[in-house]
Amino acid sequence: MEQNINLNNDISLSEGIHNLNPLYGMSREDLLSNLSSLDIIPNKQIPMRIKQLWNWTYVNGVDDINSMQNISKPIRDKLQDIYTLHRPKIVTEQKSSDGTIKWLIALEDKLGNSSGNEIETVYIPDGKRGTLCLSSQIGCTLNCSFCFTGTQKLVRNLSTFEILSQILIARDRLDDWHKNNLNAQRKITNIVMMGMGEPLYNFEAVKNALLIASDGDGLAISKRRITLSTSGVVPMIERVATEIGVMLAISLHSVSDEVRNKLVPINKKYPIKELLKACKNFPGLKNSSRITFEYVMLKDINDSEYDAKKLVKMLEDIPSKINIIPFNPWPGSEYKCSDSKQIKKFADILNNAGFSSPIRRPRGSDIMAACGQLKSSSERIRSNKIINEF
Ligand code: SF4
Repeated sequence: MEQNINLNNDISLSEGIHNLNPLYGMSREDLLSNLSSLDIIPNKQIPMRIKQLWNWTYVNGVDDINSMQNISKPIRDKLQDIYTLHRPKIVTEQKSSDGTIKWLIALEDKLGNSSGNEIETVYIPDGKRGTLCLSSQIGCTLNCSFCFTGTQKLVRNLSTFEILSQILIARDRLDDWHKNNLNAQRKITNIVMMGMGEPLYNFEAVKNALLIASDGDGLAISKRRITLSTSGVVPMIERVATEIGVMLAISLHSVSDEVRNKLVPINKKYPIKELLKACKNFPGLKNSSRITFEYVMLKDINDSEYDAKKLVKMLEDIPSKINIIPFNPWPGSEYKCSDSKQIKKFADILNNAGFSSPIRRPRGSDIMAACGQLKSSSERIRSNKIINEF
């Protein structure tokens, strides 16, 4: 049975936080220059205080500066006048019969003031593995025709703290902080940037958030357990390796430009040949560090044996893994999922050619939390600003 919980009243806002800056999401360097300019802590103490602030924030998960017991009360008081650890509010929490959880999160333009914008974040438990799927934008500009999120126009990019807050909120709700479970296996073991939006259209904020998520003194999630998925923003792909260092996934979904132009329209700008060239040149690519290609199975569109054989040929010199995703239908979608026999046949061709090609079990489809099903009801304002940057 799916469960829906309305948490609107659960997390009430503290008085007077409206003009405070979020403490999380700031790099050590930014925090250093910020604290130096504020003159509230003696300069000599600042590096030590930053270490303490990060530890309370990312290891212990406190949401109140006043709980930072190894920082003196006068300094805590001054910090509280400037910073906050307040998280955006969860509006609803939906739990699927398979254990998947989807949170609808209300964003605030200035902390405490609701902007009316919402995003979705999904937690997918699977044995010892727990994957958190993060959003990078409100809506998306890319209109992939198989994706529900693509029907919601872009409202805006998320900030670093809004991206990071999704992890903090999930850890709060799952009681997954170090302080509470010193020796326990972490519930969130993996992060995927596969929620709402194209992460490479919001590169700086995504990069800063993932660098804190993977920092040993930050949320300490290994870069090998963080995957950034792109629809194929070719000029930015190399920077995923050189500036962030996380794993790469490509939403491929077709072996021909003609079909991919319709499924993933950014293909008109960066066709398959250019995309594969960027993948081949992806720094650090090797068998132990492969690119994941996502391939959604659409009946009579991209699921023939010919498609499978062509895919084998296309990826033969790229260390890769292929995730086969049975299509998750959504209201108004023009596609159907391929028959299970056809999906199996397709996967067998890839497996026999030596590719790891698991068929992904649909997760959370009863709460519309499966791949390509996320969409918030935020105001739909098309912004061309970001599209024009590329
Ligand atoms: S698949 Fe990704 S890039 Fe394409 S519309 Fe959906 S969210 Fe945007």
